[in-house]
Amino acid sequence: MLLLRSLVLGTLTIVGAANAGAAPALQAFRLSDVELLDSPFKQAMERNADYLLSLDADRLLHNTRKYAGLQPKGELYGGWESQGIAGHTLGHYLTALSQQYAATGDERFRKRIDYIIAEMAEAQRAYGDGYVGALPPLELATLRGFKEGKVETKGAFNFKDGGWVPWYTQHKVLAGVRDAWALAGSAQAKEVTLRLANWVDDVTASLTAEQLQTMLQVEHGGMNEVLLDIYELTHDQRYLTTARRFEHREILDPLLAGRDELPGKHANTQIPKIIGAARNYEVADKPEGRTIAENFWKKVVRDHSWAIGGNSDGEFFFSPNTASEHLSAATAETCNTYNMLRLTDRLFGWQPQVEYADFEERALYNHILASQEPKQGMFTYFMSLEPGHFKTYSTPHDSFWCCVGSGMENHTKYSGAIYFHTADALYVNQFIPSRLRWKERGLDLEQRTNYPYENRSVFTVTQAPTEAVSLHIRVPAWAENNANFILNGQPLKVAAQPGTYAEIKREWKRGDDLTVTIPMSVRTEAVHGAPDLIAFVYGPVVLAGDLGAVAAGENIPYAKEQGANLELEGVAVPTLTGDAKWVAANLRRLPGNTVAFKLNTTTGDITLRPFHELDYERYTVYWKVTPGKASSD
Ligand SMILES: [Zn+2]
Repeated sequence: MLLLRSLVLGTLTIVGAANAGAAPALQAFRLSDVELLDSPFKQAMERNADYLLSLDADRLLHNTRKYAGLQPKGELYGGWESQGIAGHTLGHYLTALSQQYAATGDERFRKRIDYIIAEMAEAQRAYGDGYVGALPPLELATLRGFKEGKVETKGAFNFKDGGWVPWYTQHKVLAGVRDAWALAGSAQAKEVTLRLANWVDDVTASLTAEQLQTMLQVEHGGMNEVLLDIYELTHDQRYLTTARRFEHREILDPLLAGRDELPGKHANTQIPKIIGAARNYEVADKPEGRTIAENFWKKVVRDHSWAIGGNSDGEFFFSPNTASEHLSAATAETCNTYNMLRLTDRLFGWQPQVEYADFEERALYNHILASQEPKQGMFTYFMSLEPGHFKTYSTPHDSFWCCVGSGMENHTKYSGAIYFHTADALYVNQFIPSRLRWKERGLDLEQRTNYPYENRSVFTVTQAPTEAVSLHIRVPAWAENNANFILNGQPLKVAAQPGTYAEIKREWKRGDDLTVTIPMSVRTEAVHGAPDLIAFVYGPVVLAGDLGAVAAGENIPYAKEQGANLELEGVAVPTLTGDAKWVAANLRRLPGNTVAFKLNTTTGDITLRPFHELDYERYTVYWKVTPGKASSD
């Protein structure tokens, strides 16, 4: 059967035929179709944009020029940019610039992209074999050595003789140039991308299946995924063949069989492999990819995740029933949630389930928004869940951790998380102030809300389509009761149970006003396998106990390296006594236009605030509850 399908990536639309995979049931909108209106998300995006523009492209290009034998034009940045993983930031930076440009059309970002791509093209010519990047000689020699069949690993992050995650780093570069091509429309980026992808083919072509699986034991980022993207963009079988060399069976096979063998494995090494499997289902019609992705998602979200949506301790998955032993300062690497959200968007496209959108909401507020430092737009690496501990942020020029790179991308694409569509139905997943222009249907609407500080959101149709459109509005599973709706001042009867989409189909008119109210209350969520260790959650936001400002220090709040802060102990956190549900139901909300609650404890009152609002304070997300007379009376 000839299957016509269209891939929409930013400003570029590609229509392809044949050899296509499973077309998703729902599509995301182009970033340019959705404009953020004022909210903490828009503020985060603007803060991040300022940081992106404050970085010096010539400094980020330092090693790209140097190792290609060209004179660098800027001084090398510090942190991970001056180590073996150098160059990963430039790749993330290109993706972030491309998404920011796609979302806003701001030419300053396009100019920056064009400059970097021209510099990279020059370096690629200087290398002469199609390679471009910033890998130091050792790492580059490791990849080139594959051509001679030299594949010897040393653990999960190095090849023998020391090459540190070279494919991981190179994946960021390849993804960056792909996005400059597919999202920002740079023709030169297309040339750079394809030459680099050809080089990947070249250095891996002669490896045996066994050698490839050995190579894949070392963290390799999203190599599988990005090559599948390039296959989708070009329909050139060469890239599908190359992509298939990056399928790590040791990880995929147990998931295909429904087994959780994740404990003990490095979390962020695995998530991109699963996104690759998902793309394999989508672009190359490989059904196992869907099973693998769905099994992985369920296991990670239901069994391996903290209340904030993040996972892992010290970067590793652990046995879910031991979670109570893992509330450390090194929980919830931020990259992991960045990647889980990318996976979630794929799964939602296949099957619009509230559980996916609920997870997205949880992770967006409580991890992604919470990961940005408000003064300079800096980034967390770990999100400490050690009771009484605090957040540690990057420095502007001397950290460049993995989570700084993925973090730069996070805040450029909130507009892609709010609405999805089929041919004639609109899905509203997030209650984030925004303006949608659905050109294909002629429907424009504005969403205005102060959610979750208030429990309602108002949608106004500013341009009406000629035909009826179904609006599917998410009623979160956590809602205290059914959502209710008012259309143009009149109550509207709609089935709107928690955990479903409320469907409203009508011929919309310009000026139609639809208000949805979602009843919110405080509830508790226990650590997996530990019912006496609970977090308080209000609507979409995790509440954390504000334990007072953390004293500033050499590494607080900004650290070149965070190691020393992880060693610092948390301050004492009182134990709660009584029944947790009773305590939650009897918290007193403080007056004012904020979400804040007073919690009585044996050692005094503590204010509970949304976790994403705590930036420079010691806090606790989790509380130990012991039976006894309630402490909050
Ligand atoms: Zn990271």
